[in-house]
Amino acid sequence: MKQKIPVEKNQYYDVVFEDLTHEGAGVAKVDGFPIFVPNALPDESGQIKVTRVKKGFAFGRLVELKEKSGYRTDAPCPIYKQCGGCQLQHIDYEGQLLYKQKQVKDVLERIGKLDLNQMTVHPTLGMKDPWHYRNKAQVPVAEREGGLIAGFYQQRSHEIIDMHKCFIQQTENDRAVQVIKQICNRYRIKAYNEERHKGWLRHIMVRYGAVSGEMMVVFITKTNEFPHKSNIVEEITTAFPNVKSIVQNINPKKTNVIFGDQTNVIWGEEYIYDFIGDVRFAISARSFYQVNPEQTKVLYDKALEYAELTGEETVIDAYCGIGTISLFLAKQAKKVYGVEIVPEAIEDAKRNADLNGIANVEFAVGEAETVIPKWYEQGIRADTLVVDPPRKGCDEALLRTIIEMKPKRVVYVSCNPGTLARDLRVLEDGGYVTREVQPVDMFPHTAHVECVVSLTLKVGGN
Ligand code: SAH
Repeated sequence: MKQKIPVEKNQYYDVVFEDLTHEGAGVAKVDGFPIFVPNALPDESGQIKVTRVKKGFAFGRLVELKEKSGYRTDAPCPIYKQCGGCQLQHIDYEGQLLYKQKQVKDVLERIGKLDLNQMTVHPTLGMKDPWHYRNKAQVPVAEREGGLIAGFYQQRSHEIIDMHKCFIQQTENDRAVQVIKQICNRYRIKAYNEERHKGWLRHIMVRYGAVSGEMMVVFITKTNEFPHKSNIVEEITTAFPNVKSIVQNINPKKTNVIFGDQTNVIWGEEYIYDFIGDVRFAISARSFYQVNPEQTKVLYDKALEYAELTGEETVIDAYCGIGTISLFLAKQAKKVYGVEIVPEAIEDAKRNADLNGIANVEFAVGEAETVIPKWYEQGIRADTLVVDPPRKGCDEALLRTIIEMKPKRVVYVSCNPGTLARDLRVLEDGGYVTREVQPVDMFPHTAHVECVVSLTLKVGGN
């Protein structure tokens, strides 16, 4: 029977908000029918106007807030609403951490059908100072009457808005973007225009090693020329003596993919270096490197704790990227095998192993779901297996191999609670028990939440 939709577009409703979506919007219900309303919090009430009605849900706009949540706060960033990079700045930090823990619990129950009484879902580990943490600024450039601007795409559009300060960006990066913008303006550098596919400078990227203090500047350009190169290089290196590398990446295509295939070092080194704990990493313009190094350490320490290594274990690190977790665990294991699909990341992983004099690691390029079954056939057995998959979670074939291989411990690092819950269900059905779930706040003020989960093989498990 077709159910009648109880709300209509452009109508006003008085509602109470019950929940937050995983994108940080408030959820209210009218006769059980959910309406998603940005900038509203659980336990608040107010009047909304319905803006869009779909089959099973609707969207609305907050017209008047009547009762306020105790967690509501004023977003410090003046462009918070236009930008869309952060979703939770209107919730105080304590509220954000609670919300992330609750979101993880809800999803484990709803999607994973997991019994929360059988495990511990810990309070979210947050930052002492949750601002200015991002170590990578990547800003699109455009031209306006007054010259170059650089900032961000306005929400749901390709309009570039000029930005002078970002509250979650490392202060040093912010300052570098501003100074580079001024230098380029002085030399009348032409910005790339997406619609006309004309102009030169597409993006400016700055990476900053928070521990090492080293900085890399990347110009992403349409062609491989570089007008006023020596002057621009000199001005940048004078303004920022900690710049160790200036790189040009050329992207001649009409695309919204940021990087092109060709990268040239135009001054200094190909890499900058940074540390997570006492492991040193070489980072190139294209390397994947965690954007919040302070919390990455917290995340990896938890993974290390859950791995329960004594020095005798064989460990497999699936989806290993540039080998960050592998190298972190290698010092306390007998042997670590890392596998990753991107060949350049594996080159970085090997370089990073050499850089740290770590010899008990082996890295392979390929799909985790193909390489690990081969290792299994060759007789390689992991005592602890770590997975850190992308948002879509683990491939089913990999989960099947884990269940067959029976490592004593599985440590699941996840950036998406939904796919985590789905995969935990499969592992539980295959003989594992989820013991502990630790949410870690890697991206304060955004709706993202990362988790580390410890699973053990059931005694006498099938
Ligand atoms: N553990 C790393 C990287 C995690 S991000 C760190 O903490 O830095 C997830 C990684 O999985 C990415 O590097 C991505 O390239 C890789 N990946 C995606 N699909 C894969 C697959 N099927 N097999 C192996 N690696 C894959």
